[in-house]
Amino acid sequence: MKNTRYILKSITPCADCTGRGIVTHPAWGAYWAWNDHYRSGNYGRQPSRDTEAVWWEETGYSHANLPPKEYDCPTCHGTGKIETDVDLQTALANINYPVPNHNH
Ligand SMILES: [Zn+2]
Repeated sequence: MKNTRYILKSITPCADCTGRGIVTHPAWGAYWAWNDHYRSGNYGRQPSRDTEAVWWEETGYSHANLPPKEYDCPTCHGTGKIETDVDLQTALANINYPVPNHNH
């Protein structure tokens, strides 16, 4: 129909969480990096609970009240997918479909 746009939806995996819908809390990412570093310098031994508590305190958290390890991805709101409205012509061009030219 004239003056009518047809809209499709593109659905792609969310790049920020690689489609998992959840992301690792940055403080836990930092903790695991520190833990790896600690063990590599201490013959593979885990840090003691007290050493961990100090690390968490220095990072701004309380060992008794740690942040969640993972939470819903803020980019895709936990769905793992990014949905975008795309008009039909754009969608066909994006999949390299030969687009008929009706402008003559
Ligand atoms: Zn996501």
